[in-house]
Amino acid sequence: MRLSQMLFVTLREDPAEAEIPSHKLLLRAGYIRRIGSGIYAYLPLMWRVLKKVSQIVREEMDATGAQECLLPQLQPADLWRESGRWDTYTQAEGIMFSLTDRRDTELGLGPTHEEVITTIAKDMIRSYRQLPLHLYQIQTKFRDEIRPRFGLMRGREFIMKDGYSFHTSEESLKKTYQDMDRAYSNILRRSGLEFRAVDADSGAIGGSGSQEFMVLADAGEDEVLYTEDGLYAANVEKAVSMPADAELSPFASFEKRETPGTDTINKLCKFLKCSPTQIVKNVLYQAVYDSGITVLVLVSIRGDQDVNQVKLLNELTKLAPNYQAKTILFLTVPDAESQQKWAAKSLPLGYMAPDVADDYIAASKEVNSKFLRLVDRTAVDLTNFVTGSNESGYHVVGANWNQEFPLPATVVGVRTAKKGDRAMHNPEQTLQTARGIEVGHIFQLGTKYSEAMGATYTNEQGEEIPFMMGCYGVGVSRLAQSAVEQSYDKDGIIWPVAIAPYHAIISIPNISNAQQVEVAEKLYAELNQSGIETLLDDRDERAGVKFKDADLIGIPYRIVTGRSLAVGKVEVVERATHKSHEILIEEVNSTLKQWIDRAIK
Ligand code: ATP
Ligand code: MG
Repeated sequence: MRLSQMLFVTLREDPAEAEIPSHKLLLRAGYIRRIGSGIYAYLPLMWRVLKKVSQIVREEMDATGAQECLLPQLQPADLWRESGRWDTYTQAEGIMFSLTDRRDTELGLGPTHEEVITTIAKDMIRSYRQLPLHLYQIQTKFRDEIRPRFGLMRGREFIMKDGYSFHTSEESLKKTYQDMDRAYSNILRRSGLEFRAVDADSGAIGGSGSQEFMVLADAGEDEVLYTEDGLYAANVEKAVSMPADAELSPFASFEKRETPGTDTINKLCKFLKCSPTQIVKNVLYQAVYDSGITVLVLVSIRGDQDVNQVKLLNELTKLAPNYQAKTILFLTVPDAESQQKWAAKSLPLGYMAPDVADDYIAASKEVNSKFLRLVDRTAVDLTNFVTGSNESGYHVVGANWNQEFPLPATVVGVRTAKKGDRAMHNPEQTLQTARGIEVGHIFQLGTKYSEAMGATYTNEQGEEIPFMMGCYGVGVSRLAQSAVEQSYDKDGIIWPVAIAPYHAIISIPNISNAQQVEVAEKLYAELNQSGIETLLDDRDERAGVKFKDADLIGIPYRIVTGRSLAVGKVEVVERATHKSHEILIEEVNSTLKQWIDRAIK
């Protein structure tokens, strides 16, 4: 392609709308253009990158025996009602765009495809002889994200590879899951990314395994905890560890103390000269179940620990049957406004005890009349602890479970693991923290969808059995931008060779110099012919402008038909290192071929 004929517009300044380097650079270099919130056009250079990533994904998927297909993006609401996800996805999380057609039929724009694929399996897979089966597609997904941001990282329309597998047994599912683990590692390695596979939250389905593939970068929205020995890595939503030991309490007897202005753990520790490990703090949450019932949840946890909301959500989902519900629609820390809806009187916030009275909850059909009291494991063994008194400005010290406060019947593990904690597999290892961008997620689903949708096959004994399922997703557009987030410098993007839109760019310093043009044209034709994807900067611009642009768009090799033509050579500059080589014109092709082959191994 000739730059003179391309839609080639670069910006000198960082666009105001972008916060992170990769987003700024993709906009500046003319790869993407914002059309609306979380909606981007992939311009020709970006589209080439996305096709290359898709091709790598396709090759690795096909190698495992998975088959490519293309599923509809318009999905009937009825399918989602069958799986029980319509309300959660359109209302609670509100992640699914929904619409009504001219016949008043409700539809959703596909955020994911478990329902569609399960209904296909239900219709088409009759017998165990047809299993296992793995179908995948590469397609645009739609999600009405609460906070679309960072360009392609969190779009409302983005490209994903999603695959779904069907099995007769857990062993068969595990085998495909392991194949996917390898395939995903290959995809990321081949795309030139530095990544880590981490244990991930698998929601309330529990039991079955789930792993995320994280590209390590400061701009990542996820926190990864890992150990130096390489034996443990997990998303903070899932990570487990040993908390620090609690210090022995200095309070020997139970007593109520005036503690003015101590509505935080820090202030309280200073005032009482105690350690946060000697405090039981009581944190209030509000859960709305899909039965319409609101439950006020009081979590008692050790003062130096924080509740992890994902872990709490999983525990509360397990308790859904107690509230005639299947799932949770919302889980929040109730703010003043939402407290007004159910609080009979103003709560002693910051001073609540584990036994805060149920009569703070006004009688109502929609609100459970009692607090759901949970205690985190970190608080169970504390003795002579400090906690609230249910009266603003006062705490109690020297308290004990089942003396002053009944120990809540439900013990949960909802603490957030954090940097510095001792690892479970080896207490000598401590957890380290890093930021990660989730580019892939593999998941053993089990029979969640097949059971809900009545998708069964006949086994050897003639019985109807629900399919075991797995699902596997890669964010193709997010992956492409992550590569930039991991690889750039002050001059612009440095694409890994395997996914660069072009391998090489020939810059003609002065287009009125006939010899410069002639050699450039000859190389341009020759390189492209031999499979080295090459751009030709034949614009009537100063050499400096051309070099800056070539650096900005991040093409791995720049060929300059300049001064060294006098000795039959051209200059070849490596984008990543700025290293410059003088190479004989007739050796450019073979040299580049070698470099490219080596780079994309
Ligand atoms: P996240 O936690 O980042 O919202 P998710 O867990 O909802 O992602 P999955 O449903 O597992 O994502 O989707 C599979 C992959 O699709 C993710 O690993 C990610 O790479 C990509 N992805 C998900 N949401 C978006 C988005 N809004 N924009 C771009 N890529 C996305
Ligand atoms: Mg995920």
